[in-house]
Amino acid sequence: MNKIVIAIDGYSSCGKSTLAKQLANALNYVFVDSGAMYRAITLYFLRNKIDNDNPQAVQQALQNISLTFKFNAAKESSDMYLNNENVEDLIREMQVSQNVSKVSTLKDVRVFAVAQQQQMGIAKGVVMDGRDIGTAVFPDAELKIFVTATIDVRVERRLKEMVEKNINTTREEVKKNLEERDFIDSTRAISPLKKADDAIVLDNSFLTREEQLTIALQWANEKIYSN
Ligand code: C5P
Repeated sequence: MNKIVIAIDGYSSCGKSTLAKQLANALNYVFVDSGAMYRAITLYFLRNKIDNDNPQAVQQALQNISLTFKFNAAKESSDMYLNNENVEDLIREMQVSQNVSKVSTLKDVRVFAVAQQQQMGIAKGVVMDGRDIGTAVFPDAELKIFVTATIDVRVERRLKEMVEKNINTTREEVKKNLEERDFIDSTRAISPLKKADDAIVLDNSFLTREEQLTIALQWANEKIYSN
């Protein structure tokens, strides 16, 4: 059976990672959270006070950044490591969320992250979620899914996630952050967030996790068996 590449894109907090993880588990594929990479780069920039407007400082910083995913058996998913430090929880904090979209507009940052993401897809059998996976990272992916959900549903989901992680925030702050990121992500000059022409839209506002998996798995199997 041929392995395929599955690209999952969409706005912030649409449940892309949840769907990507579900699909990867069901198909025994590798799951890659590309957003975690941009978040880890942003954490490094914040800690080292890198000036986003100084291309030399940005390039220098990128040379000092090593990003790796390591499987966490207890969670049954991979954690993001920045220079061998597990930053999986730190990169979800509000300060990173508030800066990640600006850092993600930088050309050098995108070139750095996309090159590594493309490497991870060479052997296929990958489900990657992000904003530009179907358009820029894997334009030839066999299956592209563009996930959407209403803003109210997305705010509730992100708020619940943050409360569970004991991150101090409010509904208003979460909503503002999602809207700001969606705006920057979809209007940036380099590989902005947009649906690839050949992506299938999955609106999961009123779907359970199981329902969304059933639908996506059917699409994946159609591609796998016709390949
Ligand atoms: O997926 P997540 O919400 O964690 O992504 C955080 C941010 O990283 C996004 O808002 C976006 O600015 C950036 N990103 C990106 N391209 C991707 C994945 C994420 O620009 N492929």
